[in-house]
Amino acid sequence: MRQQTDYRFLNWAQNQTCTACNFYQPETEEELIELIKSSKKVRMTGTGHSWNSICLNNDTLINLDHYNKVLALDKEKLQVKVQPGIKLWQLNEYLDKECLALSNLGSISKQSVAGAMSTGTHGSGINYQILGSQIEEFSFIKADGEKIILHKERDKELFNKCVVNLGCLGVISEITLNIVPAFNLHDYTIAIPYEQAVNRLDEFINNTDHFKMWWFPHTNKMVLYRYNHTQAKTNDSHFRQWFMDEFVSVNIYRLLLKVGNIKRSWRRTINQLLVLNFNKPLDRIEKSYKVFNVPEPPLHREVEWAFDISVAKDLLKEYKQLISSSSHLINFIQEIRFTKGDDFAMSACCGRNTIWLGAYNADNFGWNELMNDFEILAKKYKGRPHWGKEFNRDKEYLKSVYPKYEEFNALRKEFDPNEKFTNRFISEIFG
Ligand SMILES: Cc1cc2nc3c(=O)[nH]c(=O)nc-3n(C[C@H](O)[C@H](O)[C@H](O)COP(=O)(O)OP(=O)(O)OC[C@H]3O[C@@H](n4cnc5c(N)ncnc54)[C@H](O)[C@@H]3O)c2cc1C
Repeated sequence: MRQQTDYRFLNWAQNQTCTACNFYQPETEEELIELIKSSKKVRMTGTGHSWNSICLNNDTLINLDHYNKVLALDKEKLQVKVQPGIKLWQLNEYLDKECLALSNLGSISKQSVAGAMSTGTHGSGINYQILGSQIEEFSFIKADGEKIILHKERDKELFNKCVVNLGCLGVISEITLNIVPAFNLHDYTIAIPYEQAVNRLDEFINNTDHFKMWWFPHTNKMVLYRYNHTQAKTNDSHFRQWFMDEFVSVNIYRLLLKVGNIKRSWRRTINQLLVLNFNKPLDRIEKSYKVFNVPEPPLHREVEWAFDISVAKDLLKEYKQLISSSSHLINFIQEIRFTKGDDFAMSACCGRNTIWLGAYNADNFGWNELMNDFEILAKKYKGRPHWGKEFNRDKEYLKSVYPKYEEFNALRKEFDPNEKFTNRFISEIFG
């Protein structure tokens, strides 16, 4: 097992840091259990892709980068069993070689499977639930070192409470996921006027397997991403992928962000220029995981909240109004996604089909003001924050919008009576 003392943790967005007295990277379940039993205060970290302080701990920090193997593949049952430190991208590549795939993914695959599961990470598609819904069974090591195995059907009630766990119930030590035969997606992406996108929202959501939208603030254009399953062969050219997904989306975009930092008001024009890219449709067929994932974004700040789908149109109209009537100058896309409701206690989609709306900006200047304005709107529409993104901790509000908050909190106290897995973030949410 690798070990470091006084380890400095820094998250992906570089806005959260801590120094842990002890940092461990176990390689076996036995090592993991011993560590949990012998440590006073423990937090896990996957790849540090959360924007908030959820991982921070000054005592013991455990990472499973070296506990990341595929343990079993059952091609008949279409199930794969993995150690929780495996990254989604590693799993995608492994499954692809076996002509298999995950049925849905978020915008990137850099995260660990356990990290993505614990915060309720999601993709888009109104018939698809959050990524944790692909789990068939998983095991947890509780604070006293006891291992419990939870199955989706057999242990339904407890399983549903533990999937989205914020890392405060115990440590996930093995995960079995349901998978599907590898598939291609037809990606048809084009920009249309914002009002038209809002008015035709139901049609787009219901007639597309995986539908999402990007709004470039200070423009009147909404980019529609429509991904549909297809039997047709892939046809995306390597040149297009290099030119658009690497050269333009990564290098040119980062250059334009720098230009927009010289004078923030230029961001309006830059966004108008960027959206021109989407006037002509992108019409391609590619392997599913390559379509779900977008090019590596530049460092940015991010909040994302989940709302009942019934408020979608009003919410989108009011958000645009909020940005146009304010002094916020935004240089980043605002993403809008959709997921099916579920029964996971701490899932932001618990009990309701969901529209996700986020505020994003690649700029620390004015960020808190933007986040606060967004939250006023989000609370008006009874939104629930993404556990892996930024939000102000308002315990009473969270209690009022998560119907199973009390049940989860009771389970947390039962599983971890001495608060071994409680850090400041968890205290701010549960007291
Ligand atoms: C560029 C970028 C793109 C993103 N895209 C999306 C997206 O498309 N959709 C979306 O919903 N989110 C997205 N996110 C958010 C991200 O998916 C979540 O924050 C996710 O939790 C990060 O996974 P991680 O492995 O980095 O976990 P970390 O951020 O390191 O940890 C997250 C939580 O998981 C817990 N944890 C980790 N391992 C274990 C374990 N073995 N047992 C118990 N608890 C554990 C940690 O304690 C912590 O509570 C994105 C983030 C970034 C930076």
